[in-house]
Amino acid sequence: MKGHDQGPLVGCHNSAQGGVHNALIEAKSLGATASQLFTSNQKQWRGKKISREEVAKWEEAKADSGVQVVISHDGYLINLGSHVDELLEKSRKAFIEEIERCQALDLDFLNFHPGTATDKNPERCLDTIVDSLLSFAPLFDKNQKLKLVLETTAGQGNTVGHTFEHLAYILQNCHHKVPIGICIDTCHIFAAGYDIRTPHAWDKTLKEFDEIVGLKHLDCMHLNDSLKGLASRVDRHSCLGYGEIGIEAFKFVMQDKRLKHLPKCLETPEKEARWEDEIQILKDFYYHKH
Ligand SMILES: [Zn+2]
Ligand SMILES: [Zn+2]
Repeated sequence: MKGHDQGPLVGCHNSAQGGVHNALIEAKSLGATASQLFTSNQKQWRGKKISREEVAKWEEAKADSGVQVVISHDGYLINLGSHVDELLEKSRKAFIEEIERCQALDLDFLNFHPGTATDKNPERCLDTIVDSLLSFAPLFDKNQKLKLVLETTAGQGNTVGHTFEHLAYILQNCHHKVPIGICIDTCHIFAAGYDIRTPHAWDKTLKEFDEIVGLKHLDCMHLNDSLKGLASRVDRHSCLGYGEIGIEAFKFVMQDKRLKHLPKCLETPEKEARWEDEIQILKDFYYHKH
C-alpha cells in the first residue's frame, strides 16, 4: 500500500535446520519482520523438493510469525556464469530447482550471487549469466510473485557483480523477460570500493547507483559491517558497529527515504549473541529513537 507505513522490514538469515518452517519460528523469536533462509543445503548440488506437508507447516508458521517478507539465498555451488559446460548445466538445473522451491513456499525474493569468471574473462562471464537468466523466463508466469535479486559482491577472487556497471549490464539485458532486481549488501559494496561510512558518502554512492543501475531496481538489502577496509575486495562480515563501516551507516539506511521501506536482513556473525539486539537497534533507528 503506497503511503502506508508498514513499519521496518528487518530480520536476519535464519536457520532452516530441521525444516524450512523453523526459519520463521527463529525469525519470530528474534522480533524479525523479514527473514532470509536457504531452502536446501547450500553446500550441496542435490536439492530436495518441498513436500505438501512442509508447505502446510510453512504456511502455519508464517501466519504466526509476523514476518512480512521472505527471501531465499541461493546455494554456494551455483555459478550461472561458469565457462565449464558441465558446471553451467548443473548450476542452471540447481537454480531452477531453487526457483521451484521458492514458488512452492510463495516467497517474495530469491537472492543470488551473479557468478565467477573462473577463466578470468568477466565480459564472457556476464554474458553467460544473462543467458542463464533468460533461460529461466518460462518459469515466471504472470500469476506468481517471486522476483530474483542479484546481490552486489565484494569482488573477491574472480567474482563479478562488484561494480554497479556489472549489475546494470546483467539487469538491462534481462529484466524485460524475467522479474529481477538488486540486493545491496553493505559489507560487499564497501569492500568493493563504494564508501558508505557517512551520510555524505552514502548519498554519493546511492546517486551513483541511481545513475548507473536505477534506484527503482533496488529491492532488498543485506546489512553487515565489514571486517576489512574500503576497497579491500575481501568479503568478511562483522557485527554492526564493530567493523570498518561503523554504526552511523546503518542509521542512514534505516532513515533515508530512498531505503527505509526495503526489506533488510542481517548476515552478521555471532547470531545467538547479537541478532536480537541488532534487530532492535535497526528498529529504533527507523523510529528515530537513537
Ligand atoms: Zn550472499
Ligand atoms: Zn549478503
